[in-house]
Amino acid sequence: MEYKLLTPGPLTTTATVKEAMLVDHCTWDDDYKIITQHIRQQLLALAHVSETEYTTILMQGSGSFAVEAVLSSIVGEKDKILICGNGAYGARMQQSAARYGLNHLYYEVAETKIPDATEIATILEADSAINFVAMVHSETTSGIVNDIESVAKVVKAHQATFIVDAMSSFGGIEIPMAEIGIDFLVSSANKCIQGVPGFGFIICRRDQLALSCGKARTLSLDIFDQHQVMDRDGKWRFTSPTHTVLAFQQALKELVQEGGIAARYNRYAQNNHIIRTGMEKLGFAPLIAIENQGPFITTFHYPFPEFSFADFYEYLKENGYAIYPGKISEIDCFRIGNIGEVYPSDMMKVLQLAEEYLVKSNVKGAVAL
Ligand SMILES: *Cc1c(COP(=O)(O)O)cnc(C)c1O
Repeated sequence: MEYKLLTPGPLTTTATVKEAMLVDHCTWDDDYKIITQHIRQQLLALAHVSETEYTTILMQGSGSFAVEAVLSSIVGEKDKILICGNGAYGARMQQSAARYGLNHLYYEVAETKIPDATEIATILEADSAINFVAMVHSETTSGIVNDIESVAKVVKAHQATFIVDAMSSFGGIEIPMAEIGIDFLVSSANKCIQGVPGFGFIICRRDQLALSCGKARTLSLDIFDQHQVMDRDGKWRFTSPTHTVLAFQQALKELVQEGGIAARYNRYAQNNHIIRTGMEKLGFAPLIAIENQGPFITTFHYPFPEFSFADFYEYLKENGYAIYPGKISEIDCFRIGNIGEVYPSDMMKVLQLAEEYLVKSNVKGAVAL
């Protein structure tokens, strides 16, 4: 049984993106290196930054590998990093920092709140050793979107380096990196650009990257070394995920065809509006306040205590849609993603299925048809 993914990545991709993988490409010749270089240039354009000031590093692995690559490559022994978290991905950065023995501080707020720029300013003023700040943009744990603009101002005022995990937002919402003041941005192939899993990418300031020379704690995740090789002519340092790269090239073409980030954002925002308001009408209360809700994924409370997520999940999956379990500590909830090759018609269909499920199972709280 085929189904569409209403998960935040991997997500449903187009047939043409999948077809792009039906080639076993070699990696050493100019054809392939040109593809890599072209991808790198396009990513800079999407981030609204120039090739003279910024550069791109593609890194094998899932998104967390790319985040870990940045943290373990640029935060040296004399440095200190403040990690701001309000969910599992902020916490993962903290775990990564702890694992590498980085000198770090973790500022954590509740999963339903956003890290506060004023509080971050207070932390930075109190600790002049902090010279790096990291934060997640779209916290996929809940679907909340954090205020990177206000935090960037505070970080810049403190002359620290700003690292943003924009994994589930880059490509789906405009992030003008230079204008905001982001030094390192991390995302991956299988989220809003709508490629398939296999590599992550880092967009960063060239001058900041240069400062990381010799600081990396690992060989394979060393972004400085990876960049040295890749920036020369597009060669990947170690085996590259060739099929994923071809799919990504196609996905970038399709992003342009759709009308770029603005058009994709509109589709995602529309999908999100339909699912959030529709589910709420059926009795599924959203977790995140509307003013902090991002356009990518929504967390819903269970509608009543006897609600069986497993049962609901099966019903939707049998009918063509896979949703996502919750990840919030101590709250019974689940998530519905709305990114990827999915449209308002899919959202309407899911709402219809959710209503059918409630009526079929004749449960308390079910809205009458
Ligand atoms: C998906 C995601 C990641 C990376 O997760 P992987 O499973 O390693 O790909 C990191 N941060 C955020 C916010 C994400 O949504």
